[in-house]
Amino acid sequence: MSKFAGKRVVVTGAGRGIGLAIAHAFAREGAKLAIISRNPTSCGTAAKEINAACPDSTRFYALDVSDHEAVQETAKTIVEDLGGVDILVNNAGVTRDGLLMRMKSEDWDAVLDTNLKGAFNLVKAFQRPLMKGTDPRIINISSVIGLIGNAGQANYAASKAGLIGFTKSVARELAGRKVTCNAIAPGFITTDMTDELSDDLKQGIIAKVPLADFGQVDDIAAATLFLASPDARYITGQVLAVDGGMTM
Ligand code: NAD
Repeated sequence: MSKFAGKRVVVTGAGRGIGLAIAHAFAREGAKLAIISRNPTSCGTAAKEINAACPDSTRFYALDVSDHEAVQETAKTIVEDLGGVDILVNNAGVTRDGLLMRMKSEDWDAVLDTNLKGAFNLVKAFQRPLMKGTDPRIINISSVIGLIGNAGQANYAASKAGLIGFTKSVARELAGRKVTCNAIAPGFITTDMTDELSDDLKQGIIAKVPLADFGQVDDIAAATLFLASPDARYITGQVLAVDGGMTM
């Protein structure tokens, strides 16, 4: 029997990259999905692609996770459409890199609004339905940059470190209702986000990774499914680094 048969799963930022891989992985294991992304075209295409592989598994909702009101409204529709929610994956994220000297206030706000406030908005909207779910789980996709920082990414590092503090607080608040909340800290994963890096930078990164390679989106999907599975029932408030040993 499929591991997630009948499970109701929400994944944000699933239009491409890591979120899309996570959504595919849940669908292959029998879950019913609501995928969210800011861009209606890529979100629609992603849903079509997942449904082609796993018929009638996935609906899509074009939504900006940083928009508090819109998230609360859409969440009601999702809960109605899925008949409840068991698993929430906060994956939507953006970068607006630049040294502090040149970083604009808008760059700071845009990154914090999506990466940190976005997760707050989703957890606020889904916490009650999750409390009624079966083996309820929240998984937040943070980053190794939230653990070790990075020159030129002060906004991104702050958002991802904030997400870890948020994860631990939510874990403590919702533990009494048997909702677990964990974070995954991916290292450098091959996606559109990292494809933009120069070859020199990529070589520099690989030199710092004991396993001497970039990770793949399926590595993050596998870790997400583990934390969402019954096998992880006694794990909460943790950060799982999936980074080839970079931050050990
Ligand atoms: P990506 O840019 O390929 O995809 C991000 C997705 O999020 C897209 O579908 C985009 O439309 C969506 N999105 C962005 N802002 C949104 C918003 N405001 N509302 C709704 N949807 C929004 O990124 P990725 O590389 O797949 O990364 C996914 C997550 O993993 C991000 O949170 C990222 O910070 C994190 N991460 C990535 C890496 C990596 O190496 N790629 C490493 C560490 C952490």
